[in-house]
Amino acid sequence: MAAASPRVSTPYPGIIFLGPPGAGKGTQAARLADTLKLPRISTGDMLRDAIASETPLGKQAGPLMEKGGLVPDDLLITLITERISRQDCRDGYILDGFPRTIGQAKGFEEMLGGNGANAFVVFNVEVPREELLRRLSGRRWCPKCQATFHVINNPPKHDLKCDRCGTQLIQREDDKETVVTRRLRDYDERTAPLISYYDHHSRFHTINGYRPADTVFSDLRGILEAVR
Ligand code: AMP
Repeated sequence: MAAASPRVSTPYPGIIFLGPPGAGKGTQAARLADTLKLPRISTGDMLRDAIASETPLGKQAGPLMEKGGLVPDDLLITLITERISRQDCRDGYILDGFPRTIGQAKGFEEMLGGNGANAFVVFNVEVPREELLRRLSGRRWCPKCQATFHVINNPPKHDLKCDRCGTQLIQREDDKETVVTRRLRDYDERTAPLISYYDHHSRFHTINGYRPADTVFSDLRGILEAVR
């Protein structure tokens, strides 16, 4: 049996991943979560779960997400506030896909209270636009366990079936070409301004995401070790 990886304590309650769709935030956030033994909170996955279980949130979010649009800030802030108040986030958490607007960033800081702005590390993952399009068009997703694959970079072992649970992989509706264009436009207009919002932050780090996933991951680990 493999030895359990040691828990790396971080003094920061939150690790935020910024970056356009396809930058590899999900992959890196999942690896960090595994290594640091912290929960990965993907608002995209939470919303997809809400849609699948037909909750009131899912009913509001579904039509917007299908077209590639953003879900309103107040819904996201409520969702994150509830999630972060759970016991498993007591020692920290990794946010994947939140905040995505300045309004969400401000709501998040308010939620953290007085010293909120310094209570997290921000990783801004950069990848050239052509590479993002290539990655998103080849992405395949497991609707059951939410694992992500890529037809060229990270193919599943057996004909488009999930390596973890065997479910048939699909292309997410919002990874289809016209929807991707809308998501990238929303990123440029609404999420990219967060880069200047956070770049004065002492724990803001821009990461070159156009490298092998292992190299990107070692960079993240190095930065977190250095700021401990
Ligand atoms: P993701 O899985 O992070 O790519 O998110 C998929 C979709 O969920 C996005 O295109 C949005 O429609 C919605 N979504 C996820 N996170 C947020 C957020 N923080 N704010 C608004 N919409 C979000």
